[in-house]
Amino acid sequence: MRVLIVEDERKTASFVRKALLSEGFAVDVVHNGEDALALAAATPFDALVLDIMLPGRDGLSVLRALRESRNTTPVLLLSARGQVSERVEGLNAGADDYLAKPFALDELIARVRALGRRAHGPSHVVLKLADLTLDTITRKAQRGGQTIELAVREYRLLEFLMRSPGRLCGRMTILEKVWDYDFDPGTNMVDVYVRRLREKVDTNFEPKLIHTVRGMGYVMEIRS
Ligand code: CA
Repeated sequence: MRVLIVEDERKTASFVRKALLSEGFAVDVVHNGEDALALAAATPFDALVLDIMLPGRDGLSVLRALRESRNTTPVLLLSARGQVSERVEGLNAGADDYLAKPFALDELIARVRALGRRAHGPSHVVLKLADLTLDTITRKAQRGGQTIELAVREYRLLEFLMRSPGRLCGRMTILEKVWDYDFDPGTNMVDVYVRRLREKVDTNFEPKLIHTVRGMGYVMEIRS
């Protein structure tokens, strides 16, 4: 997914950019509305993160100009004020979502990801690794033509692992992303769930896709 950040506050822009990069997004940053319109006209983006407070042409004006030029790229508006009137104005001007500052980075990432999904439609949300597929809209998993029943948490765990193929997913990261824990509950819950998931997606199939990295976590990839 390619995202354009439009924000004049360099610190905020850089902080959001780093967060999105670390989640695997391609990111461009501009610091004013004119540059945003020029770049958006020249480059297809999957989502725009657009601050309302910009020098010169403000975010709402940029948004209106985009929509007038029939650019339908999903837009997440950012505002320092978070006023209801501004939110309504933003949504009327064609914003897809709205986030008040200060915001949590996880929240921003989740919203940007949701916008990207919306933009691409269902054909782009099927994750695939070897013959395992996971449809992130219907939440159905299939392997070798067989449907795999997943409980909610198993689904979230599998989606998380499949979105980072080949990358080491530590237990703590998994707890954060799949269970929303920001502390270590000191149980082997992650291992228990990974074991269950393995029984479902790997036991009766080849090649094995979920691998243990001893003492660290798990990695999902095709190993021959
Ligand atoms: Ca700003």
